[in-house]
Amino acid sequence: MSKSTAGQSNGSKLNGGTAGRVVLIGDAAHASSPMMGQGGSMAMEDALVLAESLCSTRQAKTAIEMFVARRKQRVDWVQQQSRAVGDMLGMPPGRRNSVLRERGQSAFMVASNR
Ligand SMILES: Cc1cc2nc3c(=O)[nH]c(=O)nc-3n(C[C@H](O)[C@H](O)[C@H](O)COP(=O)(O)OP(=O)(O)OC[C@H]3O[C@@H](n4cnc5c(N)ncnc54)[C@H](O)[C@@H]3O)c2cc1C
Repeated sequence: MSKSTAGQSNGSKLNGGTAGRVVLIGDAAHASSPMMGQGGSMAMEDALVLAESLCSTRQAKTAIEMFVARRKQRVDWVQQQSRAVGDMLGMPPGRRNSVLRERGQSAFMVASNR
């Protein structure tokens, strides 16, 4: 698990939570800072994708590899966004507001396509 401080985490890496036939999901696999409010949803998504992966093959190792491949992009994105929101909230209000004015809408449009 990576270093974390109150309300901020650098986030652990999803594929660091596997060992043979064992795989971690949810916060144990990829805790992130709370800024996106996505931790509970991510844990449920993990469970669903892992169940689908296990149903699609008789090989546990293959299923776990499929699970990691399917989840990695989303987990990485949520961790990055969560960190970015935390960084933005730490900015002086004047700078934060001008960033939001210039980039807020485009950031939202990118986010809504994920
Ligand atoms: C204040 C706060 C607000 C949040 N708000 C949101 C939100 O708005 N939206 C959102 O999506 N997420 C939110 N989250 C994050 C969300 O709660 C977590 O991401 C989510 O609960 C992770 O689920 P999990 O099943 O991975 O882990 P957990 O919910 O932590 O479950 C792990 C379970 O394992 C048990 N356990 C631990 N060790 C052992 C052991 N040795 N033996 C047996 N059992 C054990 C624990 O008691 C616990 O019940 C918030 C979190 C906090 C703290």
